[in-house]
Amino acid sequence: MRVTVVGGGVIALLTAVEFTLDGHRVTVVDQGPIPYSRATSFDQHRIIRALHPDDPPATAAALRAHRRWLELEDLFATRFYERVGALTVLPPAAAEAGVLLLTGAGGRARTLTAAELADRYPHLALDSGFDAVLEDDAGVLLAERVLAACAGWLRWQPDVSLIEHRPVVAVDGERGRVSLADGQVLDGDGVVVAVGPWARRLLPERIAKSLVLHRQSLLYCRVPAAAAEAWAATPAVPALGTRRGAWLIPPVAGTALKLTSAAVCHRTDDLTDHVTPEYRQRELAVEFGDLLPGFGPAWVLGSKDCYYLSYAETGGPLVVSLGGPAHAYAACGGSSFKFAPLIARTLADRVLGRVPDPTGLAALDAVPLDATP
Ligand SMILES: Cc1cc2nc3c(=O)[nH]c(=O)nc-3n(C[C@H](O)[C@H](O)[C@H](O)COP(=O)(O)OP(=O)(O)OC[C@H]3O[C@@H](n4cnc5c(N)ncnc54)[C@H](O)[C@@H]3O)c2cc1C
Repeated sequence: MRVTVVGGGVIALLTAVEFTLDGHRVTVVDQGPIPYSRATSFDQHRIIRALHPDDPPATAAALRAHRRWLELEDLFATRFYERVGALTVLPPAAAEAGVLLLTGAGGRARTLTAAELADRYPHLALDSGFDAVLEDDAGVLLAERVLAACAGWLRWQPDVSLIEHRPVVAVDGERGRVSLADGQVLDGDGVVVAVGPWARRLLPERIAKSLVLHRQSLLYCRVPAAAAEAWAATPAVPALGTRRGAWLIPPVAGTALKLTSAAVCHRTDDLTDHVTPEYRQRELAVEFGDLLPGFGPAWVLGSKDCYYLSYAETGGPLVVSLGGPAHAYAACGGSSFKFAPLIARTLADRVLGRVPDPTGLAALDAVPLDATP
């Protein structure tokens, strides 16, 4: 088959990889370079963790995603998965239930009590009434490296074309036809659209109006030299157990410490700039001032705002048929990076008219969207 993949973020690139592995001819087209620094996928890192409290299917899917990421490292002959584990701070009963959920799904995890947390992570001021789940098959995906590895691998494949700096303006799903802004038309036997937060601009109005745009602020920090060793042994923390939903990514593999919170994620009307307003930076600084002993302005290296879309009905991601052999990942949600290999396989299966692999992410709507990743 000749397949056109619109977008050059993690979902589109991994879908192109799946089509290529299946022996199809693939054209990937992006409005910017591939990878593109304004894409939601383009960042130092993303958390991969399996625990989705009270959600066995998502937990099991995340464990499968973990294994697929390891296979992808081998395929691309690149390392981009720092397996530093993930720490989710929860009330004691929820932590215990979380460990049971994870181990029942085949993962490796244990509970850390409040005293153990204080002992192991003195650089985190956690609520002394909370325990945590420490999971092993989890950590940090070096997102920019993932994109570079996918794009690099695809460039070497004889049946793949990457078309850069060429916005797509229309998709005719029934005909498998993709129209570019410069008038060129790409005809194919199948189409996947995965344009991240830009989807509302490209998809039909009936779909676009069901999508909600979110904007989230991030602080990038350096840690004091005296605490560097402690931070090097810190897992990704998708939930610090605070009311405002704070979470962080430790400074692994030469990256910065990244701080954010559900409280600085809000709805917005349009995708504009990526500059974090000063009041949001202050908000995050105040929030983390209570959580990281010694935290102050000298830690802050920079900030950035990122966007994602969610499906209004569920608050989660959304896959839609565009008619004929065309499918779109219409809403990427706030937690799709880790699931991207499974999402890619499912999108490829849909276009190829296959029954989605039951070990993949067959029920895309089951992918949860939380405030945390
Ligand atoms: C602040 C923040 C933190 C997050 N943290 C995590 C995390 O820790 N773990 C996790 O699993 N997930 C996380 N996510 C979610 C995850 O990053 C996204 O779900 C994922 O990166 C989306 O990838 P994508 O390929 O769908 O979109 P994108 O990466 O945005 O890619 C879309 C691509 O489409 C291209 N495009 C757009 N319009 C057109 C057009 N008309 N023509 C051609 N090309 C076009 C763009 O240029 C871009 O390259 C986070 C999201 C945010 C915002």
